[in-house]
Amino acid sequence: MRCLIMGAPGAGKGTYADGIKKHFGIPHISTGEIFREAIASGSEIGLLAKKLIDKGNLVPDDITNAIVKERIKKADCKDGFLFDGYPRTMAQAIAFDEMLRELNIKLDVVINIDVSDDIIISRIINRRTCPSCGRGYNIVSLKPKKEGVCDDCGTTLYQRKDDNEETIKSRLEVYNNQTKPLIDYYDKQNLLLQVDGAGSISEITKNIITGMEAK
Ligand code: AMP
Repeated sequence: MRCLIMGAPGAGKGTYADGIKKHFGIPHISTGEIFREAIASGSEIGLLAKKLIDKGNLVPDDITNAIVKERIKKADCKDGFLFDGYPRTMAQAIAFDEMLRELNIKLDVVINIDVSDDIIISRIINRRTCPSCGRGYNIVSLKPKKEGVCDDCGTTLYQRKDDNEETIKSRLEVYNNQTKPLIDYYDKQNLLLQVDGAGSISEITKNIITGMEAK
């Protein structure tokens, strides 16, 4: 299964990606997570990414494409993958098509999680993340068993620096201008799986998996 998961910031891509990854036994590759790791490591890319991410802007296409090009060649991607948060611009989608051509592989499905802007804003503000294993929580709708601590690994949860009301506005603007046109791009290739993002996590995950298997 070679697939992408798309959707506005806060649509729940990471949450559903977890269920998809387990069901199909494929690696979940989040470019946002790769950048957060680069920031934590203090690398040159991390320093540049931090400035852009903190303001809600995108990391340049050439840097992002080069990272994906390296990542997709790794052995764990041989039989499938799930990219989350990539591609995010038309230039990335075109570069990604070129990578797939070079590797002589094709995408099976592009999932788009459809959520309204008001749901997105409240989800982002209430989102908490585990810095160690990446698991996501919501302090209203998806609380950890013990407040502020990851159920899986016991690490203290944190709020992403770009998860604040001011940054969300520019992230949504960037999404609407640069990423949303990709829905049509993949629809024209008959790859699109539209999923309603309103509902419970288990319900939505089930809808995604059923839709993917039917594609
Ligand atoms: P995410 O975890 O997917 O919400 O990504 C967090 C941030 O990382 C985004 O707001 C962007 O600044 C950056 N980022 C993640 N993926 C990409 C991408 N494909 N292209 C450019 N910037 C990205």
